[in-house]
Amino acid sequence: MADLQALKRIFLEKFGSSDEESIRIFHAPGRVNLIGEHTDYNGGYVFPAALTFGTMMLVRKRLDQQLGFASTNFPLHKHISIQGIAFDQSDDWINYPKGIIVQLQQQGVAVGGYDILYSGAIPNGSGLSSSASIEVVTAFALLTLEQQPIDKVKIALLSQKSENEFMGVNCGIMDQFAVAMGKQDHAILLMCDTLEYKHVPFDSGAYKLVIGNTNKKRGLVDSAYNERRSQCEQAVKDLQSQFPELTLLGQLTLAQFNEFKHLIPDETVRRRAQHVVEEIDRVLESMKVLKQGNLAAFGQLMIGSHESLRDLYEVTGLELDTMVEEALQVPGVLGSRMTGAGFGGCTVSLVHEDSIQLFIDQVGANYQAKTGLAADFYVCTIGDGVKEITD
Ligand code: ADP
Ligand code: MG
Repeated sequence: MADLQALKRIFLEKFGSSDEESIRIFHAPGRVNLIGEHTDYNGGYVFPAALTFGTMMLVRKRLDQQLGFASTNFPLHKHISIQGIAFDQSDDWINYPKGIIVQLQQQGVAVGGYDILYSGAIPNGSGLSSSASIEVVTAFALLTLEQQPIDKVKIALLSQKSENEFMGVNCGIMDQFAVAMGKQDHAILLMCDTLEYKHVPFDSGAYKLVIGNTNKKRGLVDSAYNERRSQCEQAVKDLQSQFPELTLLGQLTLAQFNEFKHLIPDETVRRRAQHVVEEIDRVLESMKVLKQGNLAAFGQLMIGSHESLRDLYEVTGLELDTMVEEALQVPGVLGSRMTGAGFGGCTVSLVHEDSIQLFIDQVGANYQAKTGLAADFYVCTIGDGVKEITD
């Protein structure tokens, strides 16, 4: 956890006055998806967990109708009026909290004036959801300070709406949901289209989750994401000759899919659909093996997930594949896979605590030798969702 006293000092430097007592502090985590990739928009399960590191937000009420914004992560620091908030390219990162305030205003919350300092520990743009983290912490903190009822699922939904409508990013609900609803030592089994969810204990004993950031920018991701989505829709259309009511691939069991997949004429479309249906099955299988405490079996499912994302869904690429291959060479590693949309971003691995240093050294060196990129590693613990920090 960041040094709160140091953050308060930065706050006072940016916003003036020595009134430290009235600064309130909130935190929202980043998140990692443990298994269930590209299932969310197909009516399938995802299995994300909140991390212990995320975005701190220090906030103090103002007596006027201004909003002051600063971040330890970006130089841009400015004040805006509470009225007439609109997206402005030159406001850069400040558009994220602005979008949340617009959502709150649209829901009838009369947000007052505040000075706000953010400090993030999540690498931006790496698929660990720093955007969801800043959105959710802002919504939670302002609702708390305005003494409004707190419903974390509603906070997740309004944050997603802000990212979709204000920021123009076509994201699903998983990130905001995990960041809002996370629970220490638990992952979340979530069905994205119904928001049906369950906190599942994730006791990894002597094994730690290690996130590897490929530091490869996710350039291809938007066009490929849209293409995959339409291929899944095509597969549904093809299968409707047998299942007239079918609207999403997640409505089929693996056995039903395998019996009728010949109805999908295009080989590529068939492989995309095969990934989705098998990946949903792997999530359900994960629930069984984790209940039995069989972490090795969960590790195998992670490996299966990565291979499927590489061979059937084709969203990995040299960097993610190299990092996973290198991870699996290290003794004491139970499983490893890409996490997030793919093409870049991060991997997640289950590593025995005695092997962590070796893992970081060996995977880091071999990854750099093969890709020319320097990786970053984060040894993670599963933390809570958004909350107020009282020191
Ligand atoms: P990801 O969510 O994968 O980290 P995004 O591109 O969706 O990547 O969101 C990253 C953006 O979110 C940053 O470029 C910045 O605009 C904003 N952001 C996230 N954390 C902070 C922070 N601590 N301070 C200011 N802006 C932040
Ligand atoms: Mg994001």
